[in-house]
Amino acid sequence: MTEIMTKRDLYIDFDSTLVMSDKSFARMYNEKYKDDPEFVKADWTKHWSWSYSRICPLLHKYFDDPHLITREYYNSEEFFVHLEFFPDAKETVEKLSEKFNVIICTSAFPKNAARKVLWIEEHLPLVDEIIILINKSGQGVGKARVPMMEPEAIFIDDHPVNLHSTKASEKYLFKSHETDYSQDWDGAIFCNWKEIGQALL
Ligand SMILES: [Mg+2]
Repeated sequence: MTEIMTKRDLYIDFDSTLVMSDKSFARMYNEKYKDDPEFVKADWTKHWSWSYSRICPLLHKYFDDPHLITREYYNSEEFFVHLEFFPDAKETVEKLSEKFNVIICTSAFPKNAARKVLWIEEHLPLVDEIIILINKSGQGVGKARVPMMEPEAIFIDDHPVNLHSTKASEKYLFKSHETDYSQDWDGAIFCNWKEIGQALL
């Protein structure tokens, strides 16, 4: 008889929670605009809003709709080639997967969904389940329709709107630095993956 082991579900967001999306974004911007006379090197740790107006102001100078170009960055192969885990994230998720059923839950655009899944498959092959929500007009928030998360679940995300939208009973904001969208949260916060490991392992 096969023994069925039930693990608790742990949902983990991808962008800016598991991986340093803003770092990859800023790298692309710095490459593209380094010769512009008004160029100031983008510091991803100062990233503040989804439109990247603070650290990538030239996108706002040259594009009528900076959100469109933001999405193009997120869709590009270059973005994924240089994408890195937050420190300790990969090792911690690997250990967490022994204790929990780890599910990556992320919103995506039609053009980057496949790249995102393939990146996860290459770098975290032990993750068995990925929930991708395609949100064509999403601006960094795309999981407002994930009420399927069961009450016993744990959920870690860098966006309070996503956390508020689910029924998961244990929710944590991942906050590597201050942003405009991370303010609306009075629950528990993790600032790095060492803290996540200490709390959940
Ligand atoms: Mg995120």
